[in-house]
Amino acid sequence: MAQVAIRNLNKMYDDVHAVKDVNLDIRDKEFVVLVGPSGCGKTTTLRMVAGLESITSGRILIDDQVVNDLAPMDRDIAMVFQNYALYPHMSVYDNMAFGLKMRKFEKSEIQKRVQDAAEILGIQDYLKRKPRQLSGGQRQRVALGRAIVRHPRVFLFDEPLSNLDAKLRVQMRVELKKLHERLGTTAIYVTHDQVEAMTLGDRVVVMRDGWVQQVGDPMELYNEPANLFVAGFIGSPAMNFATVRITAENGDLWAVGDGIRLKAPAAFANSLGPYTGKEVVFGIRPENLRIVPDTDPAEMSIDAIVEVVERLGSEILLDVAVGPITMVAAVEPTVRAKVHDRLRLAVNPDRLHFFDIERETAI
Ligand code: ATP
Repeated sequence: MAQVAIRNLNKMYDDVHAVKDVNLDIRDKEFVVLVGPSGCGKTTTLRMVAGLESITSGRILIDDQVVNDLAPMDRDIAMVFQNYALYPHMSVYDNMAFGLKMRKFEKSEIQKRVQDAAEILGIQDYLKRKPRQLSGGQRQRVALGRAIVRHPRVFLFDEPLSNLDAKLRVQMRVELKKLHERLGTTAIYVTHDQVEAMTLGDRVVVMRDGWVQQVGDPMELYNEPANLFVAGFIGSPAMNFATVRITAENGDLWAVGDGIRLKAPAAFANSLGPYTGKEVVFGIRPENLRIVPDTDPAEMSIDAIVEVVERLGSEILLDVAVGPITMVAAVEPTVRAKVHDRLRLAVNPDRLHFFDIERETAI
């Protein structure tokens, strides 16, 4: 059982305000991912939970106990790092047993825990080897094993898959997810990779410049981004954005821009109304655009010219010019579009996003 509560957490490194007023409640057994671009403060936040970094202000509680001044040893957490941090001169067994020996566990208990963890991770056959005799994926399993044997209240992961090649990352990602389901230990995971965040997290915390931008389950972040940053960060290829002007015509609101003419769905009537006559940012994801015959009325459409055709197999990505900007449309692999083709694109009206141009918040 472990809940982690982060209250008004701040970190200053001299004049760098690295973590700004972070508040977060992590539930028992939850897998929470902190994600954001380099320098957003995610690692610093994790290290403060671990006790490896001092807290400038705010509190961290594990199961209602304030741990601000507890040494890392005494927090009952286990951390897995990107660089594995294995002892090169020790066998796999000793690497996994080391933390327990330091804590003066009985030999038989150590043996049992290491065997159990090795079995869970499928590394029973490598226990006598040294880390240098292992592949990257196997080393990362040992690093995980070292954390598992501790039976900690909380796992902390700092970009643990970053050193693996693309294929192995995907494989280890699945293994981590299974592992979490099996052990059910509360986990906080840091990554800059939004796909990793989306696939692993029960909830995802998007950070930028030390601030939390949004906390939500992966589909919530995807479907209802709170602001332009989250909308652009989550999802690959990224959401398309264009500046449009909101106009009122015959009782309807329209979003009009260069090559763009879209009737705002009724659901937006109230929230977009105050923007009539003003510019806003309109957003649409690549998969929510589709090609329609250009005989379709130009009422609800985007006029585009194909610039690049990327055939990915399962789908085709069309980079298209819409007025002065480029958008990406993800279309069926059967579509035969060529560079310079003129296309009319329709949008899925339920999937339109609008953002305040200055505050960057979702409308
Ligand atoms: P990355 O993915 O690159 O590790 P991050 O989101 O984890 O980035 P942090 O490592 O938490 O970011 O750093 C947040 C900010 O704090 C950055 O601006 C960084 O330069 C600064 N910072 C981190 N550690 C220190 C330090 N020891 N001294 C001074 N500034 C630091």
